[in-house]
Amino acid sequence: MAAARVHLHLCPRLLRAFASSTSRPLVATHARTSPLRRAGPARPLAARNRRGAGSSMAAAPPAEAEDFATAADLQFEAPLKIVLYPDPVLRARNKRINTFDGNLRSLADEMFDVMYKTDGIGLSAPQVGVNVQLMVFNEAGVKGEGEEIVLVNPEVYKFSKRLVVDEEGCLSFPGIYANVLRPDTVKINAQDVSGAKIKVKLSQLSSRVFQHEFDHLLGILFFDRMTMDVVESIREQLKDLEDKYVETTGQKSPETVENYRGAKDVISFAR
Ligand SMILES: [Zn+2]
Repeated sequence: MAAARVHLHLCPRLLRAFASSTSRPLVATHARTSPLRRAGPARPLAARNRRGAGSSMAAAPPAEAEDFATAADLQFEAPLKIVLYPDPVLRARNKRINTFDGNLRSLADEMFDVMYKTDGIGLSAPQVGVNVQLMVFNEAGVKGEGEEIVLVNPEVYKFSKRLVVDEEGCLSFPGIYANVLRPDTVKINAQDVSGAKIKVKLSQLSSRVFQHEFDHLLGILFFDRMTMDVVESIREQLKDLEDKYVETTGQKSPETVENYRGAKDVISFAR
């Protein structure tokens, strides 16, 4: 998720929750208040689809044998480059990870590097061309400040009925900012970079960043969650990215906003 225009708010309770659920201390030595501007206070909106809201996930993960990422799937070349819409890598399936080694740690480190360089506060592995279930975020958006959080194989097991709309940006959509409606809080299970299990409730900005990045791991992009009128407001910018893709690759755009037929359900976390 892009940092610009997003309010920074480090929640001490969140930091403690992460600290107590992981093997190594993750607490920032100091929380920073925001130099960045928020578009406006988050405000609740009526849910367009409340089915399952507040309950456990209705749809179970696929029952078939786990297809974990191989060493080849986890290969990367530094420095990483951000994959831009409409590259099909952003829609590809992301494999779960069961190898917690130095390579995974290096990949997470490189993801933080490129995230800071591009003014981001969150980044998912598919956005750097690696189709695995890995995300990194730091609400401070600055190296050495805030808290660096790495989540592997994340799952949402509960979300709030209360929905909030807020403006989001995405590193795969440079310069595009628009409102997205999402559950206010989520409860998640995940693993850290060493494989240790994490169970935590996320709220405020961390909930927003997590849900945005988690969507990437499901192949969902932020405009998929926008209402038609919001998509309309960024249609030309999306088309520009599609045109650039055609120019740089010489290939047809794999998808186009012209075919957009309305938002996905607000609540659809199942894989
Ligand atoms: Zn994004």
